[in-house]
Amino acid sequence: MPERKITVTLPDGSEHRVPAGTSAAEILCGTAGRIPADWVAARVNGKAWDLARPLTDDAKVEPIPWDDPEGQRIYHHSTTHIMAQAVKALFPDTKITIGPAIEDGFYYDFDRPQPFTPEDLERIEAKMREIIAADYVVSRYEWPRLRVHEYFQQRGEDYKTELLSEFEGDTFSCYQQGEFIDLCVGPHVPSTGRIKAFKLLKVAGAYWRGDEHKQMLQRIYGTSWPSEELLQAYLHKQEEARKRDHRVLGRQLDLFSINEMVGPGLVLWHPKGAMVRYLIENFWREEHLRRGYDFVYTPHVGRIQLWETSGHLGWYKENMFAAMEMEGQDYMAKPMNCPFHIQVYQSKLRSYRELPVRFFELGTVYRYERGGVLHGLLRVRGLTQDDAHIFCRADQINDEVEAVLDLVFFMMKSFGFEEYKIELSLRDPKDRAKYIGSDAVWDQAEQALETTLQRMDLPYKRAAGEANFYGPKIDIKLVDAIGREWQLPTVQLDFQLPERFDLSYMGEDGQRHRTVMIHRAILGSVERFFGILIEHYAGAFPVWLAPVQARVMTITDRQREYATRVGEQLQAMGIRAETDLRNEKISYKIREAQTEKIPYMLVVGDREVAAEAAAVRLRGGKDLGPMPVQECLARIRDEIDRKV
Ligand SMILES: [Zn+2]
Ligand SMILES: [Zn+2]
Repeated sequence: MPERKITVTLPDGSEHRVPAGTSAAEILCGTAGRIPADWVAARVNGKAWDLARPLTDDAKVEPIPWDDPEGQRIYHHSTTHIMAQAVKALFPDTKITIGPAIEDGFYYDFDRPQPFTPEDLERIEAKMREIIAADYVVSRYEWPRLRVHEYFQQRGEDYKTELLSEFEGDTFSCYQQGEFIDLCVGPHVPSTGRIKAFKLLKVAGAYWRGDEHKQMLQRIYGTSWPSEELLQAYLHKQEEARKRDHRVLGRQLDLFSINEMVGPGLVLWHPKGAMVRYLIENFWREEHLRRGYDFVYTPHVGRIQLWETSGHLGWYKENMFAAMEMEGQDYMAKPMNCPFHIQVYQSKLRSYRELPVRFFELGTVYRYERGGVLHGLLRVRGLTQDDAHIFCRADQINDEVEAVLDLVFFMMKSFGFEEYKIELSLRDPKDRAKYIGSDAVWDQAEQALETTLQRMDLPYKRAAGEANFYGPKIDIKLVDAIGREWQLPTVQLDFQLPERFDLSYMGEDGQRHRTVMIHRAILGSVERFFGILIEHYAGAFPVWLAPVQARVMTITDRQREYATRVGEQLQAMGIRAETDLRNEKISYKIREAQTEKIPYMLVVGDREVAAEAAAVRLRGGKDLGPMPVQECLARIRDEIDRKV
């Protein structure tokens, strides 16, 4: 029988005829070639695929390196198999369940009556090192249902047989390395030796299937990296992140709280946090006025008809707070401000001459988020967006988008973000049905966004298929002080709401034309932005944002009067200053002010009184020595004005 041939297309576009059954690795590296160290798997017709797995049909084949997000998932997931293998080798009575990759790591849930101790984790790590050193080939089998069932049933792996009973199909893939076999869709790294550096991080309880009525399992978390350096860098960053956790700092600095009595995800701003918010919001309002925005205020609830017309009831209902009834009418808390701003736009006939109009509101919205995903200030149920809607003509899109991006960069600089990443989200040309609006409108809008980015000479990544169904958008990620990325500013074109609400303006030609609508938020929400700022600055806000900017401290009671006078001078200059006149050791007072991250400490003793001076210390520990009070005042005032 003649050998069946298939056509494979390589990343360089070249096409090759090869026998069916050739593996992805053989095609990419040649039969005798070595698989490059950073390759984790292959991608075959867009689907992740084991490098050793044979190809049966025509295919486009490319490698998945570690630095591809999918590559990292496969790498982490491969490590969790190694962990499960080690656990089974050391604790044979343990039952395995599932072990997915998560961001920057993996976990596996085990059923074992005794808890895993820190010593157990060390033993598991040692065993994992042996498995990696043995460099077992990871093999993929396709077994019929009965064989899979028998295999796991004979070994008492009830969780695996339970999962199998719920899967559809006749054959299932299982992966083997050494003596260990797991039921898994894969793919995996070619052999266990591919895992270069890993660490087990912690054990936590987790219910089988997240269901509290089911068995409590033990979840072991870990992380894995292609080098020891990358692993150490990751662990260091985690440690830094822990120190900056805004929930911990929020309590320590008395900035905000969230409690069960009020409700999960609903934030209480304490005076110091509220002061920072007030400063951010004031700064923000001023800047919007300068840039031609008009302020609007809109209600927190609206009749259900509004949400029907806007379409939110159709596609956003599960994220909305339940309706409340009054006088036979249903009202709902707003999850978005857009429909209200539209109502303001529609309150009169608009002419082409008055466009664009830009409505800005710090609008508090309410969104239902599952209890399990709420996280401090970063994921909440009540949030205040720095929301604006720009209503303009199609020929104004470029200028408006450019002005928004200019505001974005101004904002990032003001809050100390130096780095950013821009993503341009476009429609998926292969899936037209997903999007509303004509091709002509989309082409125009996508081009407007892209030419604006090019005109401003900004680096960006095109993301086909990532657009909203109602329009293309630009998303910007800010990179914080320890290199984490936060998605904040977004500029979105919308072709849906103008249709639904029949938004128009009177053109120069005396005809009605469809208005273009741009949604844009820059901070995102004040709550989340505050959480990110706390972590970015590690709670040490720059002087202009610090709730308390300076504290005057006495060494003995003899300086009380002088210290009070200096405090008043600071306040008269618009500096948020306090005095600490307590009869405590000065070292104690300084330590306390440092813990509170107060930027300036003015220590006064007899010598300072005599010289009309203060010994100035910074919260980081730097001692500026004695300086005339006026000089210190001018220095603080200057930092406030320059927002540094
Ligand atoms: Zn697997
Ligand atoms: Zn909007």
